[in-house]
Amino acid sequence: MTAYKRVLLKLSGEVFGGGRVGVDPVVVEGIAREIADVVRSGVEVAVVVGGGNFFRGAELQKSGMDRARADYMGMLGTVMNCLALQDFLEKQGVETRVQTAIAMGQVAEPYIPRRAMRHLAKGRVVIFGAGAGMPYFSTDTVAAQRALEIGAQVILMGKQGVDGVYDSDPHRNPNAVKFDHLTYDEFLQRGLQVADATSVSLSRDNNMNMIVFNLSEEGNIARVIAGEKIGTTVSR
Ligand code: UDP
Repeated sequence: MTAYKRVLLKLSGEVFGGGRVGVDPVVVEGIAREIADVVRSGVEVAVVVGGGNFFRGAELQKSGMDRARADYMGMLGTVMNCLALQDFLEKQGVETRVQTAIAMGQVAEPYIPRRAMRHLAKGRVVIFGAGAGMPYFSTDTVAAQRALEIGAQVILMGKQGVDGVYDSDPHRNPNAVKFDHLTYDEFLQRGLQVADATSVSLSRDNNMNMIVFNLSEEGNIARVIAGEKIGTTVSR
């Protein structure tokens, strides 16, 4: 039995790159295998893909680029991750569709929520790329928006090498304390960086739960969908 029927999985770009620029095929294959397993067990999975392994608009801005143009580069980067994930999922025998917020007919469908829901109901994995199609947004915020619009029950925020939300960076502070649960307001008041504030406030205003968990541990996607208490839950 799984705890959820339809989930929105957010994969940050960092996950795709295995910590480097570009796509690490071994990592993406492993994630695709895990997603394929849960899809075969009957769970509907939509994915929002980040792009930080290629470009982040805010960083390019610091090196002198116009912010909006840099953000579009960031959004285009997410699409490369989408195609990599699509490829490895299809190699697992799972049907997929990529839908992008910026039209690019040769590689993806446009974002059409009702069509996305129909794909999900047919057991296809829908991969959302190009963020919201709008500069100054993040793919975390898009994860919350898409989860709400397609009627997902939860946002699963998969992280690279960190097993939840801590009161400070666990890689820098050995005394960092992990939270099992946080309310949206606690998360925002502490100024935590694991998810961006816009995504958390959108989730709060619409009562969408978020679970931050470690993707680097094999089997965690199935565990979190089964309702095992891993990671950090952000909810009311
Ligand atoms: N981006 C954007 N609008 C969006 C989503 C993303 O402008 O709706 C840009 C932004 O520059 C961002 C980059 O795309 O830095 C990559 O997305 P994000 O940083 O959210 O990826 P992640 O941190 O999950 O790898």
